[in-house]
Amino acid sequence: MKIGFVGTGAMGRPMLANLVKRGHSVVAYDIVDDALAAAARLGAGRAASAAAAAGGADLVITMLPSSSHVEAAYLGVGGVLEGIGPGRLCVDMSTIDPSVSRRVAGAATRRGARFIDAPVSGGVPRAEDGTLAIMVGGDPRDVEEARPVLAVMGANIIHVGPVGSGEVAKLCNNLVAGVAAVAVSEAFRIAEGFGVDPRILTDVISKSSGNTWVMEHMHPVGGLVAKAPSSHDYTPGFTTDLMAKDLGLAVSAARDLRVPVVVAPAAQQVLRLASSHGLGRKDFSSVYVFLKPSSGQAPV
Ligand code: NAD
Repeated sequence: MKIGFVGTGAMGRPMLANLVKRGHSVVAYDIVDDALAAAARLGAGRAASAAAAAGGADLVITMLPSSSHVEAAYLGVGGVLEGIGPGRLCVDMSTIDPSVSRRVAGAATRRGARFIDAPVSGGVPRAEDGTLAIMVGGDPRDVEEARPVLAVMGANIIHVGPVGSGEVAKLCNNLVAGVAAVAVSEAFRIAEGFGVDPRILTDVISKSSGNTWVMEHMHPVGGLVAKAPSSHDYTPGFTTDLMAKDLGLAVSAARDLRVPVVVAPAAQQVLRLASSHGLGRKDFSSVYVFLKPSSGQAPV
């Protein structure tokens, strides 16, 4: 297949590499020249705009940071919808606001093209292995058309519902993971204060009701899980800033729906504070570093 690929950052690059390895002909575009050069080294052609990457493509994939980037890349001057051929399918794999997915899908339809949302979970290691979890929102026929290409990048492809539903599932998942990262960090700080060995506490929690994927794979305390970012100076992984963004999307969706949310905004603010103290580009499990105790001299 001829695939236009827009956004060749931390996730886009390994996803693109797997498409090239499977014999797809990929033409890439990124606004940052270094990111585009890295994609070219992986075997992709270089386009001068998102419109140029989309022109002549059977399918367009976008992997961009946030809602505003997706709007710019599709609807802006030189955007995907300027170049895309009639009837062609766009697959946005970024994590963004579901209402933006719907808006861009509407614009694609007016342009005679089609759009589905297909955000991912699993981070860079699973993007490299081609084993991402992919949650998809869109018309069932469009989803089936995209499935063989998605299967090159992911191991679990779940059709959630109409356009925007993939994003809803993604936000709900990251709400749980983001809150868990803060909760696990708080728990381990308390245990440390009492002198409890974090290795033993990990053993206890992993066999008890508090067990969570975040502790198993992204343990905030370094040296306990070899592959966890905490054992590698919190090199992401998934950055604190991206997790704060995703919790913000969940909070704003809840506000629109008038669903009361208490824990998610608290976790988001803790992550924002961690970011403003220099941990924004570190893995989100570094929130543990931020949650260090005050001096023993501080009044209780
Ligand atoms: P990134 O910042 O590393 O890459 C995004 C790329 O998009 C950058 O290279 C940037 O230059 C490019 N870009 C921005 N605006 C553009 C435009 N208008 N046209 C063309 N290119 C443009 O981000 P990432 O880590 O690859 O994440 C991408 C998306 O995947 C985000 O929505 C993120 O939430 C989601 N995600 C990331 C991870 C992870 O572990 N990194 C895991 C799951 C989901």
